[in-house]
Amino acid sequence: MIDYLILVNRENKINEDYYNNIIKPSIIEVEPFKNNDLIYRTFKIEEKKTYLEKLTSEKFTKLRNYAKEEGVILGITSGFLTFEQQQYKYDYFLERHGREFAEKSACMAGYSEHNTGLALDVDIFKNLKWGGIAVQEDGSIISEAKWLHSILHKFGFILRYPKGTEHITKMKFEPWHIRYVGETVAKYIYENKITFEEYHQQKNNGNI
Ligand SMILES: [Zn+2]
Repeated sequence: MIDYLILVNRENKINEDYYNNIIKPSIIEVEPFKNNDLIYRTFKIEEKKTYLEKLTSEKFTKLRNYAKEEGVILGITSGFLTFEQQQYKYDYFLERHGREFAEKSACMAGYSEHNTGLALDVDIFKNLKWGGIAVQEDGSIISEAKWLHSILHKFGFILRYPKGTEHITKMKFEPWHIRYVGETVAKYIYENKITFEEYHQQKNNGNI
């Protein structure tokens, strides 16, 4: 059974049996986004196929459709990555930019949420303009990203690496990386303004 609350970070690696026997068979192609032709033609990019765990994919499609009704178009930069793809990414950064950069920017195989199928990186298009969701130089993010962060929990997602929590998550602020945990836990994390690490800590201490 899929563990929607699995904690994966620099200290917690995905078990290989779990990865091979549970995660991999649960991965499906994310439903291509309807009515996005114009966007992709405008930006001359192709929507590449992305993959996620089945329920995560369904919930993301719901989130995406809802956002579209509100005038915000969501794209996916990265979904499920295999251990092999993950290691390639890490080694690429390592070779090109050295260990410090690699460790800040990627994780080794099995240590990334992208290996769970429960996490993805999103992009934002607004009114057919490329919005992006990257952090601006002054540390701010676009208003659509803020709005997105405020509705994620309704669809069972959390912002996994919030601003100012680097000392806990050991990851820099990533306004684009979202993780599926289910509606109940997502709501709890959102309302209590805690990280997923802190949620697990509270649970382990018997406080939840
Ligand atoms: Zn990510």
